[in-house]
Amino acid sequence: MSARRFLAALGAGAAAAWGLYTWGAHLVTPVCVWRGARGARRVALTFDDGPDPEWTPRVLAVLAERDVRGSFFLVGARAVRSPDTVRRITAGGHEIGNHGWAHRSLWLCGPRRTSVEIGRCQEVLADLTGRAPALFRPPWGMVNAAMFPVLRRHGLRCVFWTIQPEGLVPVSAPLQTRRLVRRARPGAIVDLHDAPGLPGAPARLCEALPAMIDGLRRADYAFATVGELLEER
Ligand SMILES: [Zn+2]
Repeated sequence: MSARRFLAALGAGAAAAWGLYTWGAHLVTPVCVWRGARGARRVALTFDDGPDPEWTPRVLAVLAERDVRGSFFLVGARAVRSPDTVRRITAGGHEIGNHGWAHRSLWLCGPRRTSVEIGRCQEVLADLTGRAPALFRPPWGMVNAAMFPVLRRHGLRCVFWTIQPEGLVPVSAPLQTRRLVRRARPGAIVDLHDAPGLPGAPARLCEALPAMIDGLRRADYAFATVGELLEER
């Protein structure tokens, strides 16, 4: 584990523990989730960092072709630049989540900036879609303790992931697919990227996505949005 990942895990663990403590009543439905219910053989495909006017429509086309609905965690500043792409996501029946206003690591944000990152994105997505998101994914998976009251104010749950076929270093499309199908478990939340953060990531995703969906279906998995997976708890 790299030092950065160790710190991220440490930060997430400490903040999650603090959050669960302060939330008390929410212990039954945890504020932070890494996976959905294990009862049904379903997984959720999630797409971070968009909307991207070039790549998101390609991802939407693959999902439509294969009749799969996913969850898109959008960056607020990108959403205001591509409102049509946001509408295409909702028109496809997909779920929209909050991925921060400017994709800042919350690990580096104070309480005020944390509130702006989450709140401004929430506002923009509610305006564009007519519905405020119920889910937040922290950029880079990095959190801080100030995040929890902000999430509570907006009625948001924090969604991490179970499987990340490609993380901070590029992974070829075939290897991503093999990793995903091998690691899939009932209730898994899969973290994918439909906009450039890591160079070339969306192109590799578009190459891998059809095989990912087909491979998971061959292994008897059905698809759900994160919201649907969490409802089963
Ligand atoms: Zn991201």
